[in-house]
Amino acid sequence: MSDQPEDRYGLIGFPVKHSFSALMHNAAFAHYGIRASYGLFEISPADLGDFFEKRVKQLGLKGFNITVPHKETACSFLSGSVSEGVRLTAAVNTIRVEPDGTLTGFNTDGPGFARDLEERGIGIAGKKVVLFGAGGAAKSVARTLARGQAKQIILFDSDQEKSRRLVGLIKDYYPNVLIRCVGSVSDLDVGSADILVNATPVGMKLEDPLLIDPSLLHKDLFVYDLIYNPAQTRLLTAAREKGCVCANGLGMLLHQGCLAFSLWTGQDVTADLQDVMKKALEESSHA
Ligand code: NAP
Repeated sequence: MSDQPEDRYGLIGFPVKHSFSALMHNAAFAHYGIRASYGLFEISPADLGDFFEKRVKQLGLKGFNITVPHKETACSFLSGSVSEGVRLTAAVNTIRVEPDGTLTGFNTDGPGFARDLEERGIGIAGKKVVLFGAGGAAKSVARTLARGQAKQIILFDSDQEKSRRLVGLIKDYYPNVLIRCVGSVSDLDVGSADILVNATPVGMKLEDPLLIDPSLLHKDLFVYDLIYNPAQTRLLTAAREKGCVCANGLGMLLHQGCLAFSLWTGQDVTADLQDVMKKALEESSHA
């Protein structure tokens, strides 16, 4: 056994206890014989400044992921370079702590979402997409949809100012994409949409309301809920009852996690890495 202390990684969010990230990263560290561990750190919005200013160093973190609700606010604490994904979305989900202590920001959510759709054989080009949310994850999803040449993106977030900002952000970088936000769910025009994506936390709690009147769902709609715990949200249950093809966010979690692992450890994203992480996720989601 080496005397060298193990490297520490983790996830910050509020809440975090629903997360499966520790299981997949710890399985991969063990598989590749890397002396490291990944923990969950529940950090409230009020404690975020203290976390970045003191605890990252105190805990000796080498890298960490960021989840709800910190993906956007965490950008202001980045002190190193930022990836194109962070620059284009102003949201960060993966931070690498460099040897000199600077914090480099990446966003692996968009590529993770794209990879999962690709594996499922769901094309984006020419599709009309309805998106719930304009927060950290929604920005990555919207960017992926714009890059993938969706025909139209219509989004709704309870915070209309945020919705407008996301529309502006996408229009700045992808001027040819038709994107607009609406002030109410009934204006989303779900009837003519091909894809519906939930990128809000609504559905994480079993008592959460349904985001949409289920009578608006139709069998030709592909419904993707970024939430993976619970595996079956009320939205997915309603969509399945309507005959929609559905997916939860487990595949996105896997692919964004593989990319984060690679950024921290230098390990390539291989089929072997994916298999190890996928197995850990499958075991936890069946536990
Ligand atoms: P976030 O930054 O807090 O954004 C969530 C957005 O949803 C906020 O703008 C919020 O508005 C809005 N919202 C809340 N309730 C709503 C409602 N009823 N109707 C419309 N909009 C509503 O959170 P996030 O980091 O983007 O995460 C969103 C969800 O995606 C979480 O469940 C997270 O776990 C999941 N996620 C999954 C993956 C994956 O790999 N599967 C990756 C990333 C995120 P307010 O600010 O007004 O509340």
